[in-house]
Amino acid sequence: MFDEHVSRRVSSDTRRSMLKAAGDGYFMGGRIPFGYAAIEDGKRRRLAIHAGEAATVKRVYDMSLQGHGVKVIAMALNDAGMLLRGRRWAKNTVNFMLSSEIYCGVSIFNRTTKRVLNSPELWIRVNSHPAIIEPEIFNQVQSGLETRRPERVGGIPRSMAVFAGLLRCGQCDGALTMTNGTARNGTRHHYYGCCTHMRGKAKCNFKNIRVDEFDPWLVSQLLDKVLTPQTVHNVVLEATALGGQWARDRLLRRESLVRDLRDTEAKRGNLYSVLELMGTDAPNLADLGPRLKELNNRIKQLEQSLLKLEEEPTGPLDAPELEIEEVTGMLRSLVEDCMDPKKLRTFLGSFIEKATVSGDSVAVFYNEGRMMSLGGSAVRSGNKWLLNLGSNQGPTD
Ligand SMILES: [Zn+2]
Repeated sequence: MFDEHVSRRVSSDTRRSMLKAAGDGYFMGGRIPFGYAAIEDGKRRRLAIHAGEAATVKRVYDMSLQGHGVKVIAMALNDAGMLLRGRRWAKNTVNFMLSSEIYCGVSIFNRTTKRVLNSPELWIRVNSHPAIIEPEIFNQVQSGLETRRPERVGGIPRSMAVFAGLLRCGQCDGALTMTNGTARNGTRHHYYGCCTHMRGKAKCNFKNIRVDEFDPWLVSQLLDKVLTPQTVHNVVLEATALGGQWARDRLLRRESLVRDLRDTEAKRGNLYSVLELMGTDAPNLADLGPRLKELNNRIKQLEQSLLKLEEEPTGPLDAPELEIEEVTGMLRSLVEDCMDPKKLRTFLGSFIEKATVSGDSVAVFYNEGRMMSLGGSAVRSGNKWLLNLGSNQGPTD
């Protein structure tokens, strides 16, 4: 996360040139979207309309305008043999095509950060290639999709519950599971409820709690406990130390490459001197040719290794000084603004063993050792990330 933040700061120049290239109509790589083909343009490529595939795209938009749902469209295409580059269409592939601004000639950059969706204000739209669908048609289709979308309960789908599977009932230790219910004012919501209570078997009178209120509250409470100035200070210290170690290693590698290069150049220089001085009288003249070639190859290799080293991404050490407050805000927003509940659930589940809800308090049991591990790559730390309480308690409101 730290690296990501730093590289976002230092890569703004790279991004600017990438956006400019896209604005100039160059294809920035990746999978070629259905409906298009990539054509060579000098050393780069551009997207051009693929007539055959574009006909399928138009058919999909036409059918959607006529009010057909994505499932019907998928079946119609499959029946007509208008396949997705040999594969059958499914609901989600049709839905993706109907929602993608690619077909209006727009490329969107900065949509995700490390595969997590950014909020739409951060997206950057560039007109980068010919459109297959007129913007007006595209917008009409979007409102059609919106009205046909099944009504959502309580504003969030079931999959949004970030603590699903981690919560226990404080009265009977039963698992809390997701359930739907109606609030006093008549609106429908998702709730966490005790499975024992719902089965009505044991004497448990757990009161259901609203998911959309509980989740952000507990996330915020957890962050308050974790992101103390002292903890964040330690994070910055460690990251800087790691960056320092990395920079020292790099310096050593560079020095050794340069030394090798100078040595080899000196040897080649000697050979040239011998040739200049003695010409065809030079001893072992027949050996000099291959030897020179060998040295030249070695020099080329070393120069390439040096270039590669220069092109390596710069580490945190090269970053400007980071303020504790800035880092705290960055880490906090990374978690709170995470648009991918599955990812958030995986993250929380990686160190939370369980959270027991009793009355108006929640006890969170966590594994301190796994606190700072993300996506399988653990950051080993000599520091204590949290006070070793075994649990953190906080009152609910
Ligand atoms: Zn219970």
